[in-house]
Amino acid sequence: MTSSIGRDSPIGSSSPIGRNSPIGRVVVLLGAPGAGKGTQAQILSKRLGLAHVATGDLFRAAVRDETPLGTVAKAYMDRGELVPDTVTIKMLLERLSKPDAAAGILLDGFPRNTAQADALDKALAEAGGSVDIAPYIEVPESDLVARLSGRWICRAEGHPYHEQANPPLVAGVCDIDGSELYQRTDDQPATVQARLRQQLGALAEVVAYYRDRGLLKPVDGRRGIDGVSEDLFASIAAATGTQG
Ligand SMILES: [Zn+2]
Repeated sequence: MTSSIGRDSPIGSSSPIGRNSPIGRVVVLLGAPGAGKGTQAQILSKRLGLAHVATGDLFRAAVRDETPLGTVAKAYMDRGELVPDTVTIKMLLERLSKPDAAAGILLDGFPRNTAQADALDKALAEAGGSVDIAPYIEVPESDLVARLSGRWICRAEGHPYHEQANPPLVAGVCDIDGSELYQRTDDQPATVQARLRQQLGALAEVVAYYRDRGLLKPVDGRRGIDGVSEDLFASIAAATGTQG
Protein backbone atom coordinates (compact mmCIF):
# COMPACT_ATOMS: atom_id res chain seq x y z
CA MET A 1 0.00 0.00 0.00
CA THR A 2 1.13 3.56 -0.70
CA SER A 3 0.32 6.56 1.45
CA SER A 4 -3.27 7.35 2.25
CA ILE A 5 -2.89 11.12 2.13
CA GLY A 6 -5.98 12.67 0.72
CA ARG A 7 -8.40 10.33 2.43
CA ASP A 8 -10.43 11.61 5.32
CA SER A 9 -8.60 11.07 8.58
CA PRO A 10 -10.62 9.03 11.02
CA ILE A 11 -11.54 11.02 14.11
CA GLY A 12 -11.73 8.81 17.15
CA SER A 13 -12.14 5.11 16.72
CA SER A 14 -15.27 5.25 14.62
CA SER A 15 -17.37 7.84 12.91
CA PRO A 16 -20.84 6.52 12.27
CA ILE A 17 -22.26 9.82 11.09
CA GLY A 18 -22.41 10.27 7.36
CA ARG A 19 -22.10 7.54 4.77
CA ASN A 20 -18.92 7.55 2.73
CA SER A 21 -20.85 6.51 -0.33
CA PRO A 22 -24.59 6.90 0.04
CA ILE A 23 -26.42 3.86 -1.20
CA GLY A 24 -29.97 3.94 -2.42
CA ARG A 25 -32.73 1.55 -1.49
CA VAL A 26 -32.05 -2.16 -1.86
CA VAL A 27 -35.11 -4.32 -2.47
CA VAL A 28 -34.60 -8.10 -2.71
CA LEU A 29 -37.53 -9.62 -4.61
CA LEU A 30 -38.05 -13.30 -3.79
CA GLY A 31 -40.16 -15.92 -5.51
CA ALA A 32 -39.98 -19.44 -6.88
CA PRO A 33 -39.64 -20.15 -10.61
CA GLY A 34 -43.12 -19.67 -12.04
CA ALA A 35 -44.15 -17.18 -9.34
CA GLY A 36 -43.95 -14.26 -11.78
CA LYS A 37 -40.92 -12.63 -10.18
CA GLY A 38 -39.34 -11.40 -13.43
CA THR A 39 -42.60 -9.81 -14.59
CA GLN A 40 -43.17 -8.12 -11.23
CA ALA A 41 -39.57 -6.94 -11.07
CA GLN A 42 -40.03 -5.09 -14.36
CA ILE A 43 -43.32 -3.50 -13.32
CA LEU A 44 -42.13 -2.50 -9.85
CA SER A 45 -38.72 -1.16 -10.80
CA LYS A 46 -40.36 1.23 -13.27
CA ARG A 47 -43.03 2.31 -10.84
CA LEU A 48 -40.62 2.79 -7.93
CA GLY A 49 -37.83 4.37 -9.97
CA LEU A 50 -35.41 1.61 -8.97
CA ALA A 51 -32.92 -0.04 -11.31
CA HIS A 52 -33.97 -3.63 -12.09
CA VAL A 53 -30.91 -5.78 -11.48
CA ALA A 54 -30.91 -9.43 -12.57
CA THR A 55 -27.49 -10.98 -12.12
CA GLY A 56 -27.61 -12.67 -15.53
CA ASP A 57 -28.03 -9.27 -17.19
CA LEU A 58 -25.30 -7.88 -14.96
CA PHE A 59 -22.84 -10.55 -16.13
CA ARG A 60 -23.75 -10.09 -19.79
CA ALA A 61 -23.36 -6.28 -19.60
CA ALA A 62 -20.01 -6.50 -17.77
CA VAL A 63 -18.67 -9.01 -20.27
CA ARG A 64 -19.93 -6.99 -23.23
CA ASP A 65 -18.41 -3.75 -21.86
CA GLU A 66 -15.20 -5.61 -20.99
CA THR A 67 -15.06 -4.12 -17.49
CA PRO A 68 -12.34 -5.54 -15.20
CA LEU A 69 -14.97 -7.53 -13.28
CA GLY A 70 -16.55 -8.62 -16.54
CA THR A 71 -13.22 -10.05 -17.65
CA VAL A 72 -12.90 -11.98 -14.40
CA ALA A 73 -16.48 -13.26 -14.66
CA LYS A 74 -15.99 -14.28 -18.29
CA ALA A 75 -12.99 -16.45 -17.38
CA TYR A 76 -15.19 -18.45 -15.01
CA MET A 77 -18.09 -18.67 -17.43
CA ASP A 78 -15.78 -19.77 -20.27
CA ARG A 79 -14.65 -22.66 -18.08
CA GLY A 80 -18.27 -23.52 -17.40
CA GLU A 81 -17.90 -22.56 -13.74
CA LEU A 82 -20.12 -20.44 -11.54
CA VAL A 83 -19.01 -16.85 -11.05
CA PRO A 84 -17.87 -16.56 -7.41
CA ASP A 85 -20.13 -14.62 -5.04
CA THR A 86 -17.36 -12.11 -4.30
CA VAL A 87 -17.24 -11.14 -7.99
CA THR A 88 -21.02 -10.98 -8.29
CA ILE A 89 -21.29 -8.77 -5.22
CA LYS A 90 -18.60 -6.39 -6.47
CA MET A 91 -20.61 -6.09 -9.68
CA LEU A 92 -23.73 -5.34 -7.68
CA LEU A 93 -21.94 -2.60 -5.76
CA GLU A 94 -20.65 -1.15 -9.02
CA ARG A 95 -24.19 -1.26 -10.37
CA LEU A 96 -25.43 0.62 -7.30
CA SER A 97 -23.08 3.48 -8.10
CA LYS A 98 -24.54 4.04 -11.60
CA PRO A 99 -26.71 7.15 -12.11
CA ASP A 100 -29.90 5.20 -12.87
CA ALA A 101 -29.54 3.41 -9.52
CA ALA A 102 -29.38 6.63 -7.49
CA ALA A 103 -32.75 5.85 -5.91
CA GLY A 104 -31.76 2.22 -5.44
CA ILE A 105 -32.00 -1.21 -7.00
CA LEU A 106 -34.48 -4.04 -7.14
CA LEU A 107 -32.62 -7.35 -7.05
CA ASP A 108 -34.15 -10.17 -9.10
CA GLY A 109 -32.56 -13.61 -8.72
CA PHE A 110 -29.97 -12.77 -6.08
CA PRO A 111 -29.25 -13.88 -3.40
CA ARG A 112 -30.02 -17.52 -4.20
CA ASN A 113 -28.74 -18.97 -0.91
CA THR A 114 -27.94 -17.83 2.61
CA ALA A 115 -24.19 -17.56 1.97
CA GLN A 116 -24.93 -15.03 -0.77
CA ALA A 117 -27.46 -13.22 1.44
CA ASP A 118 -24.88 -12.94 4.19
CA ALA A 119 -22.14 -11.76 1.81
CA LEU A 120 -24.52 -9.18 0.36
CA ASP A 121 -25.36 -7.83 3.83
CA LYS A 122 -21.69 -7.48 4.73
CA ALA A 123 -20.78 -5.76 1.47
CA LEU A 124 -23.70 -3.35 1.74
CA ALA A 125 -22.83 -2.55 5.36
CA GLU A 126 -19.25 -1.75 4.38
CA ALA A 127 -20.58 0.57 1.69
CA GLY A 128 -22.94 2.22 4.17
CA GLY A 129 -26.13 0.56 3.00
CA SER A 130 -28.44 -2.32 3.80
CA VAL A 131 -31.29 -4.39 2.40
CA ASP A 132 -34.49 -2.43 3.04
CA ILE A 133 -37.09 -5.11 2.37
CA ALA A 134 -37.42 -8.58 0.89
CA PRO A 135 -40.90 -8.98 -0.62
CA TYR A 136 -41.73 -12.64 -1.24
CA ILE A 137 -44.24 -13.69 -3.90
CA GLU A 138 -45.80 -16.78 -2.32
CA VAL A 139 -47.33 -19.40 -4.61
CA PRO A 140 -48.21 -22.96 -3.49
CA GLU A 141 -46.03 -25.68 -4.99
CA SER A 142 -48.96 -27.33 -6.78
CA ASP A 143 -49.75 -24.05 -8.55
CA LEU A 144 -46.11 -23.63 -9.53
CA VAL A 145 -46.02 -27.12 -11.03
CA ALA A 146 -49.20 -26.40 -13.00
CA ARG A 147 -47.80 -23.11 -14.31
CA LEU A 148 -44.41 -24.57 -15.19
CA SER A 149 -45.56 -27.87 -16.65
CA GLY A 150 -48.44 -26.74 -18.85
CA ARG A 151 -46.31 -26.25 -21.95
CA TRP A 152 -47.19 -28.29 -25.06
CA ILE A 153 -45.69 -27.97 -28.54
CA CYS A 154 -46.80 -29.23 -31.93
CA ARG A 155 -44.91 -31.96 -33.77
CA ALA A 156 -44.98 -30.24 -37.15
CA GLU A 157 -43.60 -26.76 -36.39
CA GLY A 158 -43.06 -26.56 -32.64
CA HIS A 159 -45.88 -24.05 -32.14
CA PRO A 160 -46.10 -23.48 -28.37
CA TYR A 161 -49.25 -23.74 -26.22
CA HIS A 162 -49.93 -23.60 -22.50
CA GLU A 163 -52.75 -25.44 -20.75
CA GLN A 164 -53.67 -22.37 -18.71
CA ALA A 165 -52.22 -19.31 -20.40
CA ASN A 166 -52.67 -20.23 -24.06
CA PRO A 167 -54.66 -23.44 -24.62
CA PRO A 168 -55.31 -24.81 -28.13
CA LEU A 169 -58.92 -24.69 -29.43
CA VAL A 170 -58.99 -28.51 -29.46
CA ALA A 171 -57.02 -30.33 -26.76
CA GLY A 172 -53.94 -32.05 -28.16
CA VAL A 173 -54.20 -30.49 -31.66
CA CYS A 174 -52.28 -27.53 -33.11
CA ASP A 175 -54.60 -24.64 -34.09
CA ILE A 176 -52.34 -23.68 -36.96
CA ASP A 177 -51.46 -26.93 -38.72
CA GLY A 178 -53.59 -29.61 -37.05
CA SER A 179 -50.57 -31.67 -35.95
CA GLU A 180 -50.37 -33.49 -32.64
CA LEU A 181 -49.28 -31.63 -29.49
CA TYR A 182 -46.81 -33.24 -27.10
CA GLN A 183 -44.89 -32.36 -23.94
CA ARG A 184 -41.11 -32.48 -23.85
CA THR A 185 -39.69 -34.43 -20.89
CA ASP A 186 -38.48 -31.14 -19.41
CA ASP A 187 -42.03 -29.80 -19.37
CA GLN A 188 -43.72 -32.86 -17.87
CA PRO A 189 -45.14 -32.46 -14.34
CA ALA A 190 -42.89 -35.10 -12.74
CA THR A 191 -39.71 -33.51 -14.16
CA VAL A 192 -40.87 -30.02 -13.30
CA GLN A 193 -41.74 -31.03 -9.76
CA ALA A 194 -38.37 -32.72 -9.12
CA ARG A 195 -36.47 -29.69 -10.39
CA LEU A 196 -38.69 -27.30 -8.47
CA ARG A 197 -38.20 -29.16 -5.17
CA GLN A 198 -34.45 -28.52 -5.34
CA GLN A 199 -34.92 -24.85 -6.09
CA LEU A 200 -37.53 -24.42 -3.36
CA GLY A 201 -35.12 -25.78 -0.75
CA ALA A 202 -32.62 -22.98 -1.33
CA LEU A 203 -35.40 -20.41 -1.59
CA ALA A 204 -36.86 -21.51 1.76
CA GLU A 205 -33.50 -20.84 3.41
CA VAL A 206 -33.25 -17.36 1.90
CA VAL A 207 -36.84 -16.65 2.93
CA ALA A 208 -36.00 -17.72 6.51
CA TYR A 209 -32.86 -15.58 6.45
CA TYR A 210 -34.83 -12.40 5.74
CA ARG A 211 -37.70 -13.40 8.02
CA ASP A 212 -35.21 -13.71 10.90
CA ARG A 213 -34.04 -10.17 10.21
CA GLY A 214 -37.55 -8.75 10.07
CA LEU A 215 -37.21 -7.84 6.39
CA LEU A 216 -39.50 -10.44 4.79
CA LYS A 217 -42.84 -9.31 3.39
CA PRO A 218 -44.89 -12.22 2.03
CA VAL A 219 -47.42 -11.40 -0.67
CA ASP A 220 -50.09 -13.79 -2.02
CA GLY A 221 -48.90 -14.65 -5.53
CA ARG A 222 -52.17 -16.24 -6.69
CA ARG A 223 -54.01 -12.96 -7.26
CA GLY A 224 -53.07 -12.25 -10.88
CA ILE A 225 -50.36 -9.91 -12.12
CA ASP A 226 -52.12 -6.63 -11.23
CA GLY A 227 -53.23 -7.70 -7.76
CA VAL A 228 -49.79 -9.04 -6.86
CA SER A 229 -48.21 -5.90 -8.23
CA GLU A 230 -50.40 -3.68 -6.05
CA ASP A 231 -49.57 -5.67 -2.92
CA LEU A 232 -45.86 -5.63 -3.65
CA PHE A 233 -45.91 -1.92 -4.37
CA ALA A 234 -47.72 -1.14 -1.13
CA SER A 235 -45.25 -3.25 0.88
CA ILE A 236 -42.17 -1.73 -0.69
CA ALA A 237 -43.48 1.82 -0.53
CA ALA A 238 -44.28 1.41 3.17
CA ALA A 239 -40.83 -0.02 3.92
CA THR A 240 -38.82 2.50 1.92
CA GLY A 241 -40.91 5.63 2.08
CA THR A 242 -41.03 5.63 -1.71
CA GLN A 243 -43.78 7.48 -3.51
CA GLY A 244 -45.24 6.05 -6.67
ZN1 LIG B 1 -48.27 -26.34 -35.19
